[in-house]
Amino acid sequence: MIRFYNAQILKRNQDGRYYTESGEIVTDGARILHVGAPISFSDRSSRLPAPDSQPSRDIDCHGNLLIPGFKNCHTHSAMTLLRGAGEGLPLKRWLYERIFPLESRMMPEDVYFAAHLAIAEYLAGGTTAAQDMYFYADETARAVTEAGFRCVGVGASADSDGKTEESLRRQEELLKKYTAGGAFSFRVGFHAEYTASDALLKGVKILSERFQSPVHFHLSETEAEVRECLARTGKTPPERIASFGLFGRGGAAYHCVHLRDGDLKYFSHEGACIGECGRQASDRFGRVGESTNDYENGGMYIVSNPRSNLKLGSGSAPLKKYLEKGLRVALGTDGAASNNRLSMFDELNTAVLLSKVNDGGIGIGADAALDAAFYDGAFAMGTPDARALEVGMRADIVLLDIDRPNMRPQTNSVDRLVYSASDSNVLLTMVGGRILYENGEYATGVDYERVKREFEARVRRLSETEN
Ligand SMILES: [Zn+2]
Repeated sequence: MIRFYNAQILKRNQDGRYYTESGEIVTDGARILHVGAPISFSDRSSRLPAPDSQPSRDIDCHGNLLIPGFKNCHTHSAMTLLRGAGEGLPLKRWLYERIFPLESRMMPEDVYFAAHLAIAEYLAGGTTAAQDMYFYADETARAVTEAGFRCVGVGASADSDGKTEESLRRQEELLKKYTAGGAFSFRVGFHAEYTASDALLKGVKILSERFQSPVHFHLSETEAEVRECLARTGKTPPERIASFGLFGRGGAAYHCVHLRDGDLKYFSHEGACIGECGRQASDRFGRVGESTNDYENGGMYIVSNPRSNLKLGSGSAPLKKYLEKGLRVALGTDGAASNNRLSMFDELNTAVLLSKVNDGGIGIGADAALDAAFYDGAFAMGTPDARALEVGMRADIVLLDIDRPNMRPQTNSVDRLVYSASDSNVLLTMVGGRILYENGEYATGVDYERVKREFEARVRRLSETEN
């Protein structure tokens, strides 16, 4: 049992508005037991067990801000190894000339150490869960489990090399091995339309039915990708993917910078769901209907990666339009090679600022951006019980230093959080009731000096073997 007292707490009302309130949070094991006014541990009428269950840690927050952990809904953690590779190139050349050749030389343990480095960066930036697409997923799983982090691995199947069966078989093994509920779980996915044959997409559909899994993939990231798909197949990428029934179980489509208006129906309640659908939409733009199990029932999320899209010159996703059409939006960093940061503060901030340019006026605004980072992010991650700081939710909690100059004045902490805060404000990160990062120190038990040594040696090996 851990108590955070003397805190400001970020809360969300039913209309999707965020506000802060003074109080305390008590966690018990992996869950939040109490949020609100100070409670007495010696009061037997309290619903808290007392007095033999004094908190094992009593943390004075000194008026600082408790927020839910960020959900990084699209990343390639081990791409920390490739941070800075192909700097300056547009997506296609970056991918084919730099990234794919380097990745072809990676060994399983490279992914293990690179994932550890990424997790350290997530924790220091207040991220408590990641949705990760990468090969050698066993190695990412090993790092995630050791660090006490939470990760949803998604299939990265591709068959540009013609090895369709092998790619699907590898994914099937991972789906069997990592079931829902663990620190590392696994869901069906494929890299992208342009690296998938018809046979692969058919195989992905079979896997999603067999394992009753949502499906995850990169989608319409660049205008060139859309044009090439139209020229090759006569369909937009979503149209081609939908023709294999791959929107029906929900999941997440990453980037979605260049969706055509006709593509939006695949993400809507009516269009996406071949079967029944739960929650229809979030509520900010006058939409109705909400349940906590929509992900399992076919919700399809757009995961926006604003900084990656800017870095690779891909454009920016029209998030306000998507939200107004009732589509659900989450945020992710993408890999460190295309960002180069793994900071959800930066994604939050960039998403809001870009929307002002794209949409005019205030753009999507702070509340919608926070929903994407926390609330809808939790749904997209398949952990709706991590969506807010409320009793019974997962104890995924971040303490932010709002005493620092960049967070003043303290009159509107919600705006400060979106427009001013950065990783440097994170004092503490708790995942599932365990404090893993506090005041610049890690409590994961991982030897980060060794991780850094191994990581640098592997980066040297990859660059030395480059032709
Ligand atoms: Zn990506």
